[in-house]
Amino acid sequence: MITLWDENRYWSELLRQEGVSFRSGSRLSGRDVVILDRAPGELHTHRIWQHIESGAGLLAAGVNAAAVWLELRPHIKRLRWIAPEGESPLFRNVGIVDLETRGSLLHEANAGVTDSGTKALLATPAGRGYCIVLPFEVTRVLSSVASGPRQFPADTPRFPYDTVARSSRGEVRRLVANCLRFLLARKDQPYVHLASVPGLTPSTFAFRVDADFVPRRDIEAVAHLADRVGMKFSWYVNVGAHQAHLDLFADLARQGHDIQLHCQRHAVYSDYKRNLDNFRQGRNALASAGVSPVGVVAPWGEWNQNLNRAFEELGFEYSSEFCLACDDLPFRPVVDGRLSRILQVPVHPICLGRLAAARANAAQMAAYFRSVIDLQVARREPCFLYDHPERIAQFSDVLADVLQYGKERCGSVTTVTEFARWWQHREQFTWAARMSDRELEIRAEPGGTGLQVIVEQDDRYAVLPASPGRYLLGALEWHALPEPVRFDPRALAARRPSLLLQARSLERKAQKTLREHRG
Ligand SMILES: [Zn+2]
Repeated sequence: MITLWDENRYWSELLRQEGVSFRSGSRLSGRDVVILDRAPGELHTHRIWQHIESGAGLLAAGVNAAAVWLELRPHIKRLRWIAPEGESPLFRNVGIVDLETRGSLLHEANAGVTDSGTKALLATPAGRGYCIVLPFEVTRVLSSVASGPRQFPADTPRFPYDTVARSSRGEVRRLVANCLRFLLARKDQPYVHLASVPGLTPSTFAFRVDADFVPRRDIEAVAHLADRVGMKFSWYVNVGAHQAHLDLFADLARQGHDIQLHCQRHAVYSDYKRNLDNFRQGRNALASAGVSPVGVVAPWGEWNQNLNRAFEELGFEYSSEFCLACDDLPFRPVVDGRLSRILQVPVHPICLGRLAAARANAAQMAAYFRSVIDLQVARREPCFLYDHPERIAQFSDVLADVLQYGKERCGSVTTVTEFARWWQHREQFTWAARMSDRELEIRAEPGGTGLQVIVEQDDRYAVLPASPGRYLLGALEWHALPEPVRFDPRALAARRPSLLLQARSLERKAQKTLREHRG
């Protein structure tokens, strides 16, 4: 059983994304792993340390671990990122973890590497227990909503880049999950969590189309591609630019495509009022064409709290902005000190246009997308790609192959809205898992239809229904976990400071300021 020391929105939401059963509070007896998400008061420090030394696992940032492990001397230093090094299980299927935070580093660290070349994490026994000390505070990293240009590793003449969230929330979560797996395995306990996709397939695949400013024939070409590969796409309509084609989108909706809102005007504002007007007009126009959107993706992938407030006011169920998050499971951002009513559904941010700008040829484009799909399948997480109609029309043969590959590898297809609905159902499910001896007990309230519990141990996994039951681990039907995807060392080269990238970032900021004044 995992215990979270302090009820904390960021940590709780991360653990809910993972789908693990946990409790928060200062009760320690029977808790195999303690996550110390803040420094405990002096009254508790001795008790916690005794609990660890008598056999439990501790997961904490340097500054918080030092409150109970008094010999630790973390030094505070700017930390841009950490990366895998060697074959540490803590970094299984984890890439570079972008942090851009205040780090607390340790001379004794022995796993992973930081941007300044020192070791990143400390993983070490403590008495009969075990400690994993992170060089950053998860809460601090997840509470940052800053964005900036980021390059993605690829076998292309230049690295593709886009403006995305500065911190890689998904990698933070995967690193934390691997730490929990490791600490539980030491106690001979399985890692038990809700599956991240519906059904029994390793992943699920969706394709998002941002319909910005394109002629009707490009939209028809995209619809043709969807038919060719046997998929229904998730379309986000720039209503202002497509006033004359709303009949076409209504028709696509009737054919089973997922038609949602991009915007009325292609802009995101810093204030609430203009955001509200923009997306209200777009929503109403789509509604009068017979399509009632429940999802929205903001122009340029931009996100701010006032935008989120406007989406809440308009009653959307979900949105997707890679300036807030990409390559992560859905989650609820914290707005005004509470969890947002809008679910954030991240996608992968690199599209054909970004690859063309990186001077990729068709084969390199296809190889890039295949590697993104392979990684999500190895992680057993959903895979959502996105693109724009003019590029889709231009590279429809490349994309047809990529989409076929995605369908086959992921094992099932979905739409972004269908997945967001399923995720909201997963969020509602209340359950707990407990191990005693070699028996796993699942307690659950009704409502787990369509959800699965995954039990992982020793590179194997078993699937159980999300309903009450008792299971002997030895009697489960075990399968081998997919081979992990090896860390791509090009990712390190992609983190080298780039003048070109800085120039592009300044240019984008200047354009944004102009738009804001005009709009
Ligand atoms: Zn757009």
